[in-house]
Amino acid sequence: MKDDSPGLFGPLPTSRVVPVLVPMPAPVAYSYSVPAGMAVEAGSIVQVPLGPRQVIGVVWDGPDGGSVDPKKLRPISKVFDCPPLDKDMRTFLDWVAAYTLSPPGYVARMALRAPAAFDPEPMVEGFRFSGIEPERMTPARRKVLDLAADGLSWTKSGLAHASGVSASVIDGLATQGVFETIFLPPPPLVARPDPDFAAHRLAGPQKEAADEILDGIAKGGFSVALIDGVTGSGKTEVYFEAIAETLRRGKQVLILLPEIALTANFLERFQDRFGAKPGEWHSDLATRTREKVWRQTATGEIRVVAGARSALFLPFEELGLIIVDEEHDPAFKQEDRVFYNARDMAVVRARISGFPVVLVSATPSVESQVNCQAGRYRRIHLPTRFADAALPDLHLVDMRRHPPERGGFLSPILLKAIGKTVERQEQALLFLNRRGYAPLTLCRVCGHRFQCPQCSSWLVEHRFRGQIQCHQCGYAEPTPQACPECGTLDHLVACGPGVERIAEEVERHFPDARTLVLSSDLGGVKRLRLELEAIANGEADIVIGTQLVAKGHNFPLMTLVGIVDADIGLANGDPRAAERTFQLLSQVTGRAGRTGRKSHGLLQTFQPMHPVMQALVSGDATAFYEREIAERERAALPPFGRLVSIIVSADTRPEAETHARQLRQSAPIERDIAILGPAEAPLALIRGRHRFRLLVHGRRNSDMQGFVRQMLANGPKERKSIQVQVDVDPQSFL
Ligand code: ADP
Ligand code: ZN
Repeated sequence: MKDDSPGLFGPLPTSRVVPVLVPMPAPVAYSYSVPAGMAVEAGSIVQVPLGPRQVIGVVWDGPDGGSVDPKKLRPISKVFDCPPLDKDMRTFLDWVAAYTLSPPGYVARMALRAPAAFDPEPMVEGFRFSGIEPERMTPARRKVLDLAADGLSWTKSGLAHASGVSASVIDGLATQGVFETIFLPPPPLVARPDPDFAAHRLAGPQKEAADEILDGIAKGGFSVALIDGVTGSGKTEVYFEAIAETLRRGKQVLILLPEIALTANFLERFQDRFGAKPGEWHSDLATRTREKVWRQTATGEIRVVAGARSALFLPFEELGLIIVDEEHDPAFKQEDRVFYNARDMAVVRARISGFPVVLVSATPSVESQVNCQAGRYRRIHLPTRFADAALPDLHLVDMRRHPPERGGFLSPILLKAIGKTVERQEQALLFLNRRGYAPLTLCRVCGHRFQCPQCSSWLVEHRFRGQIQCHQCGYAEPTPQACPECGTLDHLVACGPGVERIAEEVERHFPDARTLVLSSDLGGVKRLRLELEAIANGEADIVIGTQLVAKGHNFPLMTLVGIVDADIGLANGDPRAAERTFQLLSQVTGRAGRTGRKSHGLLQTFQPMHPVMQALVSGDATAFYEREIAERERAALPPFGRLVSIIVSADTRPEAETHARQLRQSAPIERDIAILGPAEAPLALIRGRHRFRLLVHGRRNSDMQGFVRQMLANGPKERKSIQVQVDVDPQSFL
């Protein structure tokens, strides 16, 4: 056996060198030496010097970088006392980096998002009865002692709470030596969910669906199922059974949800079913809670995490199932630094570790549907709402034939329906996916339009705040009185509606109704949660909201949904525009009638013959999807072809354009892969940066990553002023 301690005889053994991924945009891991006496293995989370700083890194797999100059080699400063990232997680991170063409260090950093969690949680102070009675006994003290007499340990607050006394009573007893102080492991953040706590009896098709999924779990190994069923059909009930079975098998579960921060009622529902809440993971958590969730997921104390897309990078001890609810939702795509789609990466994570994934949606993405048709995913269909709750009756309002009154946006038909709903003391929801009062302000005298000085976007008036704001960069200024161009006073006009303007119109028509505007700019998560709760409790008659009202909320009194502008998303040059509009509007109208009352949806449109509108009102999505799929296939668009979008941005327009041109010229010649552009991006300017786009288009089996990697390697030297963003499988084309 080799002795690693400095020997008295012979040369000093050379210290070990290991690769460490640091949070840097470098393409490879850096080499560090392991000081004598320090134990590290692949996956260990460490602190290392990097230039003048200390940074967090992970010991990685692969060659130990033996070629580095030993004089330059620096030692690892510290290993954290925390479970190492396991082999599957490391394989996953490498895979994501290679697929998204991102620096591996940036990807690894997503798994290390809670630095203080790498050290064990501090023990908490506890009390145990010492056997010494207090000098003077009071009824309060008696209660405490009755509880503590069995010699078990308690936290101070736990003991006070359980015996119904104040903490000062416990302190008083402690000073007399009645307790000895001991240290207890910190309490778990959430209790262990019980798979058999309160299962619902599944109805016919639900049972079949659940059996099919449980079958997959029993067989073991990787598989993907898509639960496709209208809102309210019991998809959640079905996947709860899959969760229960996975828990029984001793594995952890991850539920990915869009907008988890706002779906408090999901957490409660989970608790009703499993007797405990899941661990929660999203960007609105307090830092301490975040750290606890990270740590307790790694140690296996937390069995189920419900989280936003980044939860995919939590270091589960033994993950055995991922659920992706609302799998079609664009919120699963991250478009910042590492551009990834959490739905797709969830499938990759499951394949690497060999466990099942369940995708869930009332309006599955074209991608997932095609995967089902090709036999790669299993489709599980729930055709009807549970307990025969009827879906809302949907109708189109042709705005050419039923125009609103001058200056308004709501047609007489919609207004009448709102009136009737309010009379019946039920709720109406008006949906418009536009924050603020008006999307554009202009001067009636000279035609000046208010534009962001930093971006190519109009400034949106927010009347509640008295500001005009840029929705790209957040720039804001007080709403002006005079035109900055011609100086004319009080001749500025608001063009088009936002939710605030619709609220104004509603209040004019229904002055006695309780109107509530729900929009992400009108308060933080806490306030929004409260408002959503208030709506569910019937504390508003008319709700006007942006897309955040669409997500999974249950409003028992809501019987009318009005779509103010159903055409809004159709004309933006995005290949998924029709699909997205269909999904969003289905989801919004699905808010109505969830508890069995008769309900309606009215969609205001100027294009009543459009296939999206027809699919929505006919309730027949099949024809619509078939058309979409055929269209994508014809144009070789995803999932029949592949896209990579590259955005070049620079401080000046010519710089950006030149760089993008040169990049294109550096592309290798590939028969199956074509490059479109460079063209100025639809959002040509954001935060003062000029943007050009290239779109790389290949076949389903083309090596897109290899192509783009080569293009970037041959391309013009990167300069500080120039930024190149690569987005594999882009969702956004702006
Ligand atoms: P989805 O996820 O498809 O929108 P849910 O699972 O939320 O549907 O079900 C809709 C409603 O019906 C929920 O309130 C749910 O509790 C109830 N429900 C569905 N299936 C059952 C069942 N088998 N037993 C009792 N309640 C059910
Ligand atoms: Zn701006």
